[in-house]
Amino acid sequence: MKMSRLFVQTLREYPSDAEVISHKLLVRAGYIRKLAQGVYNYMPLMWRVLKKVENIVREEMDAAGAQEMLMPFVQPEELWQESGRWNVYGKELMRLKDRHGRGMCLGPTHEEVITSVAREGIKSYKQLPVNLYQIQSKFRDEVRPRYGLLRGREFIMKDAYSFDSSQEGLEKSYADMAKAYYKIFERCGLETKAVQSDSGAIGGAVSHEYMVLIDDNENNAGENDVFFCKNKSCGYAANANHAVSVLESAEVDGAKFGFNGFKKVDTPDTTTIEELAAFLKIPATVILKSMIYVADNKIVMALIRADKTFEETKVMNAVGANEIRSAAPAELEAIFGASKGFVGPKDIEQVKIPEEYEGEKITVVADLTAQEMKNFVIGANETDKHFTGVNWSDLNTPIFADIRLVEAGEKCPDCGEPLYVTKGIEVGNIFQLGTKYSKAMNAVYLDENGKTQPFIMGCYGIGISRTAAAAVERHHDEHGIKWPIAIAPYHVDIVPVNIQDELQMKVANEIYEKLLAAKVEAVLDDRDERAGVKFKDADLIGFPFRITVGKTITEGLVEFKVRETDEVFKVKPEEAAEKIIEYVKPYIISYCQLTPTT
Ligand code: ATP
Ligand code: MG
Repeated sequence: MKMSRLFVQTLREYPSDAEVISHKLLVRAGYIRKLAQGVYNYMPLMWRVLKKVENIVREEMDAAGAQEMLMPFVQPEELWQESGRWNVYGKELMRLKDRHGRGMCLGPTHEEVITSVAREGIKSYKQLPVNLYQIQSKFRDEVRPRYGLLRGREFIMKDAYSFDSSQEGLEKSYADMAKAYYKIFERCGLETKAVQSDSGAIGGAVSHEYMVLIDDNENNAGENDVFFCKNKSCGYAANANHAVSVLESAEVDGAKFGFNGFKKVDTPDTTTIEELAAFLKIPATVILKSMIYVADNKIVMALIRADKTFEETKVMNAVGANEIRSAAPAELEAIFGASKGFVGPKDIEQVKIPEEYEGEKITVVADLTAQEMKNFVIGANETDKHFTGVNWSDLNTPIFADIRLVEAGEKCPDCGEPLYVTKGIEVGNIFQLGTKYSKAMNAVYLDENGKTQPFIMGCYGIGISRTAAAAVERHHDEHGIKWPIAIAPYHVDIVPVNIQDELQMKVANEIYEKLLAAKVEAVLDDRDERAGVKFKDADLIGFPFRITVGKTITEGLVEFKVRETDEVFKVKPEEAAEKIIEYVKPYIISYCQLTPTT
C-alpha cells in the first residue's frame, strides 16, 4: 500500500472527548471516527486490525472444534418473551417495532436465537456436543458509552454457544473454551487473567472473565477491580462483584461500650459513620450502616457492619433485581422523613412507599458481617437520632447475603494469604449456563432412552473491538501505538526520506516489492512530506517495523527500526528486507483477504 493512497487522516491533537489512551490514540491515528455516541466507523487501518483479531479468534475456535455461522442482528420479541428476558433485560436492550407493530430488538447477545436454532436442528443425543459461534456487531444501549472502543454501544463480539447432554460434557466444552481463550489473547499480544465473576443478565452459575490487567492507577480504562492472591499454588482471582474474603475477628458487641438495652439517643450532625463513631466513642464495628437503593424501581434497604462497604452488584443479585442505583438524598427525605445518615431498619415495614415506586414493602438485605453483631447502633429514621443497644430480635429478620465489597489485605478465601487488587479490562467472558434457556424455551433432544431432555448450554464471548483497544492500552508510548505484530494493520513502513532522490526511491521500491512478494504487509511512504512528518505518523500509527532509506544509501545502508524497543540498526537493504521477512513469517495471514495491495 502506498501511503499517498492509504485512506487515513491523522490528527495533530488528541480528541477533546477522549479520556483513556486507546481512545485518544485510535482517533488521533485515524483508526476510528465517531458517528454517534458510542458508535464508530472502523476506518481501513482499524478494519485490518479487527480482521486480524477475528482471524486469530476463528483459528482458535475452529481448532477447538467450534463451527462458525451467522445469526440475524435484528431479533423478534417473541423469542425474548419465551426466555423471559424481554421484561427484565433493561434499557440496554434497544427495542423497536416493525411496520406491523411487532416487537423487535437489536441483538445485544444471542442466547435466545441460538437456543431456537438448536431447538429446531438438534433432535438426538447423537448430534451432541455442538459448539456454534459467530462474529458480529452487537448493540447495547449502554448508560455510559465511553472510552472509545472499550465501551461502545455498537461493538463487535465473537459469541459461541455450546450444547451438551451432561454436566460433565458442559464442563469439558467450558474447559476447551478456557484453553482457546488463553491462546487467543496471547496471540493478540495480551496477557490475561481468568477471574471468577458474576453472571449478570446472561445467567448461569459458573463464569470466568478474561481480564487484561492494567496496573496503572492513573488510567481508568480498567473498569473492573480484580482481587487476586499472589500465592502461586492458590491462584484465586475474582472480579470485585464476585470476590469474597475472610475477615479478621472484630469487636461486634455494643455491650462493651455500654449499650445495654434498646434506647433512642441524640446524635446531632453525625451524618457520616466517622462522625457517629467519634460522637458515641465506639468503633464502626458496632454500628449497622443502612443504605437505600432503588432496584428495578423497588426500594431496598441494605445493611452492613459499618467498617465495611457495599458491593452494588451483589446487592442487586441478593434481591433478584436487574438494575440498581443508590437513592438520592431527596428520595430518602421523601420516604423516611429523615436525612442521610439517620435511616435505619427499625419498624421499616410500616414505612409507606410513595406511588412512583413499585412494591408494597421495603426489601431489607443484610450482609453476613451484620449477622453476628449485638447491641449495635442504627439510624432512628429521625434526623439527629439513632437507636443504640439494638439486637436482631428487635428487628424483622432480613435476607442475609454476602453483599460486601472485599478490600485489599483481607484474607484469600482459599488459602488465607492476603488479597491484592488491580484494575482490569474484561476482554472475554465464559459462562456455564446450564438449562436456563433450554428449559425456558423448551429446547430439548431425545436421550439414549428416547426421553426428552433440555440442552445443557454454555456461552462464550470475546469483545473483538474491545480486545483491539485493550492491546493499545497495553502497547503504546508517548509517540503512539506499538501494535503487537500479529494484529498490526501493516507490518512495516518503508520511508524514503526524500522522494525526489532517485536512488532513495529506487531502493525503497525494491524493498517494497521484495516484501510484498514475501506476503509481508508493507506501506511505502511515497508522500512528498518532510521526513519528520513521516516518522511521526509511523510512530503514531504504530507499524511494528520501519525501514528508512536516507542519505546513508550512498554507503549502501538503510535504517531498520523496531517500534516495540526503539532499537535502530544500520543494515544493507537486502538484510533489512530479510530481517523483516523472518520476523513477520509466523504472522502471515492465511485465512482472510488481507494480502497487501499495491
Ligand atoms: P461489561 O461488564 O464490560 O459491560 P459484559 O460483561 O456485559 O461487559 P458480556 O455480555 O460478557 O459483556 O459480553 C462479552 C464480551 O463482549 C465482553 O467480555 C467484552 O469483551 C465485550 N463487550 C461487552 N460490552 C461491550 C461494550 N459495550 N463495548 C465493547 N465491548 C463490549
Ligand atoms: Mg461479561
